[in-house]
Amino acid sequence: MIDFLIVGNGLAGISFAEIALQNNKSIFVFDNNSQPSSRIAGGLYNPVVLKRFSEVWKAKEQIDFAFPFYHKIQSKLNVVFDFELPILRKFYSSEEQNNWFQAADKPNLAPFLDSKLVTISYQNIDSPFHYGKVLHTGYLEISILIEAYSNYLKSINSFSEAPFVYNKIEFFEGFIQYKNIKAKHIVFAEGFGLHANPYFNDLPLDGTKGELLIIKAPNLQLDVVIKSSVFILPIGNDLYKVGATYDWTDKTNQPTEAGKQELIEKLNELMSCDFEIIQHFAGVRPTVKDRRPLVGTHPVHLKLHVLNGLGTRGVMLAPYLANQLFQHIENSIPLEKQIDITRCYKKK
Ligand SMILES: Cc1cc2nc3c(=O)[nH]c(=O)nc-3n(C[C@H](O)[C@H](O)[C@H](O)COP(=O)(O)OP(=O)(O)OC[C@H]3O[C@@H](n4cnc5c(N)ncnc54)[C@H](O)[C@@H]3O)c2cc1C
Repeated sequence: MIDFLIVGNGLAGISFAEIALQNNKSIFVFDNNSQPSSRIAGGLYNPVVLKRFSEVWKAKEQIDFAFPFYHKIQSKLNVVFDFELPILRKFYSSEEQNNWFQAADKPNLAPFLDSKLVTISYQNIDSPFHYGKVLHTGYLEISILIEAYSNYLKSINSFSEAPFVYNKIEFFEGFIQYKNIKAKHIVFAEGFGLHANPYFNDLPLDGTKGELLIIKAPNLQLDVVIKSSVFILPIGNDLYKVGATYDWTDKTNQPTEAGKQELIEKLNELMSCDFEIIQHFAGVRPTVKDRRPLVGTHPVHLKLHVLNGLGTRGVMLAPYLANQLFQHIENSIPLEKQIDITRCYKKK
């Protein structure tokens, strides 16, 4: 008998698996590579909404939990996937500059917004109104984390690449049987794949497709992330991630010509040098209509749990939410109301 069977080895599944292991619980993880969101994401973390200069929901709490947590995984697996890097928001007018300074004066935003204007001139990027610098930012190379974590799980015989088949769950008094595995609980962390899950597919998981390019631009020479209508994120060797698009209608993981053209156009507005497209990715972000995560326990099957709805900011959210779900299951600590799926059932 294991404690947790986990479906999904993206940011959500990894976070839950690691918290369970840190608490001496036994786990088994299924992931069949059917959803690419975590693997292809930009991986940026940034505590501020840069469109309107407001704080991300629970930014401080998320950061305080997530980064010691990721650093522990780095040491445990002997890999590096967290790269701290400044994010510079390009200003388009003096009004935007003023809005930034006003925001930087607010007590909740002061720790995250540098109040000095960044006037550096970057090669091939024109920015007459300069930039504002966000603090406590960087990116996770999530593909490195996923590969290292799945290899680790394989090494402890706790990983399968088979698809999880929902109608093979059998319910018994005090435990669940899935094929030859007996488990006390199942945690579903399937990202947009949740729609195939008959136990939780009535939750309002919307899905927002995003596309992202990796470009090579030897004449760009950036050592910071520039955020404008797209972000340009340097990943070394003259390579940059450029993203991302937002599409609320197409729910497939296929890269499209339209997505590529949109990114190219925005990139050409932002910078003036040549570049070559090296890779083009797409995935569906697990977004929710009310913009809050979907975390909790099934209303009837009390051994089934969900960890989903990480939306556009999975990097900062995943460890924080996974910890809440773990504490909820193991120690009956109530979930924060805004993330608890009971809010969705009440509305019905
Ligand atoms: C283009 C793009 C850019 C993004 N940029 C950022 C960013 O810069 N910063 C940020 O914080 N977030 C970003 N995001 C959002 C972030 O990627 C998501 O919030 C996060 O990855 C969601 O993680 P997850 O574990 O919930 O889902 P997923 O990553 O989708 O993981 C779910 C896993 O479950 C597996 N699975 C599903 N069903 C089954 C089944 N039946 N059997 C077995 N396995 C199954 C899938 O294979 C998958 O590996 C971006 C997303 C996209 C698409």
